[in-house]
Amino acid sequence: MTTPRIEIDLCKIRQNTRFLVDHLASHGISVTGVTKAVCGDPAVAHAMLESGVSQLADARVANVKRMRCAGIICPISMIRSPMLSEIDQIIETCETSYNTEIDVIAELSAAALFKGEVHGVILMIEMGDMRDGIMPEDLERIATMVMKMPGVALKGIGANFACLGNIAPNADAMEVVTTLAYEIEGACGPFLETVSGGSSANLPWALDLPTKGRINELRLGEAILLGTDPVSGEQIDGLHTDAFTLVVEVIETKFKTRPFPLRLIDPALLALRLVQDSSSKSRSVLAVGLQDTNVGGLSFPTDITFVGATSDHTVTETSKCALQVGAEIRCQLNYGALMRAMNATDVEKVFVSETTWNGAVIEPDRVHPTVI
Ligand SMILES: *Cc1c(COP(=O)(O)O)cnc(C)c1O
Repeated sequence: MTTPRIEIDLCKIRQNTRFLVDHLASHGISVTGVTKAVCGDPAVAHAMLESGVSQLADARVANVKRMRCAGIICPISMIRSPMLSEIDQIIETCETSYNTEIDVIAELSAAALFKGEVHGVILMIEMGDMRDGIMPEDLERIATMVMKMPGVALKGIGANFACLGNIAPNADAMEVVTTLAYEIEGACGPFLETVSGGSSANLPWALDLPTKGRINELRLGEAILLGTDPVSGEQIDGLHTDAFTLVVEVIETKFKTRPFPLRLIDPALLALRLVQDSSSKSRSVLAVGLQDTNVGGLSFPTDITFVGATSDHTVTETSKCALQVGAEIRCQLNYGALMRAMNATDVEKVFVSETTWNGAVIEPDRVHPTVI
């Protein structure tokens, strides 16, 4: 089989999705499946939809187009504030977008009006992550302006935590979001359909406390795909962490000593060197590099230590057993590594034969679903 390749187990993605959808439903929270880390892969999107997510979201128009071309017709939200240069495409492909700039919303309004459509707007609030978001004190003013614009409908508000900073939201911060929802409703009238609490970083909060205030949606990518909490990096109980595996190939294995520059070669020095470097570690070069993934975000099997990577090579060390040239090495990926690998043209995407909870093997999924 081709290497490098990323093996995708849709069964595990379905089980992760179902677990989160069911647990959050008991708290009155629906799940929006975030597809950006798989570049809008239609099969993964389809697996999320089959397992109960209420809609999808992505941060790039190209990914949304890919899903639309594959026949995915469910509501899709744009979770990155639209660029002014892509307004028409946003209106064409997404029912709703998350917004922080009134000038952008004005353009969305004009474009939607021109097409005779109504585009949903969710206002993203700055809650301390200091990436994108409207300052809470400006929210009411902007919401009032949106209410007056034709072609757009104020659907809700959303919070964002632990994207740029690594601070998980706590109960107090979430309480503020609830208060803001009531304030906006009081000031501008509409019932806010969506109060989106955040991302996978919100799960410890969402799965823990019984009262969720007005939060009725979370946007989940990492937890569904990798089963991990983005803040701690730890596995979330009940979720699979191995739905994706990157398989790479060994192209060189040697016991290496650092060669002397030629002019220094002197038998006496070399003898000394051999004694010094008689370590039992062998070095292997893998045919994968920074062009293919974020190599630092890979977890190698035990006993394989990562040494360094260049654009096309990754160097590892083993102490127990030398890796054979041609051997395949199976690695787990973190979010950044997954995103890069899914976007890399030289990494083949393979849907593997799936097993159910009780170990029974079921047929591989359709790779390119055309209808949902
Ligand atoms: C990426 C992203 C998410 C999903 O984050 P995960 O950590 O993958 O769950 C949610 N909201 C926004 C705005 C995002 O950019």
